[in-house]
Amino acid sequence: MMTTPTGFDAQGKPEISCQACVDFILDYLEGVLPAREKATFERHMNICPNCVTFVENYKKTAAMAQTVGASPEDAPPVPAKLVEAILKARKHGH
Ligand SMILES: [Zn+2]
Repeated sequence: MMTTPTGFDAQGKPEISCQACVDFILDYLEGVLPAREKATFERHMNICPNCVTFVENYKKTAAMAQTVGASPEDAPPVPAKLVEAILKARKHGH
């Protein structure tokens, strides 16, 4: 079998969906994502600007939430649907 280091499978489709990626984000940011999943996740980051932006915004939001005195207008725009997806993933998966 050929490996797919580009993040795409043999059919040229992304290896994992953005939804799967959202499921990985929490573990990834906590540093507990297994190496194999981490590699898959990082390959997806290489091919999906949307998820890169989302992870960046998620990190900022998480950092902001832990910062006392942060003003809400400084918060980056995180799509509500993706936040919901993360909360659901956390409930079901962990
Ligand atoms: Zn994606």
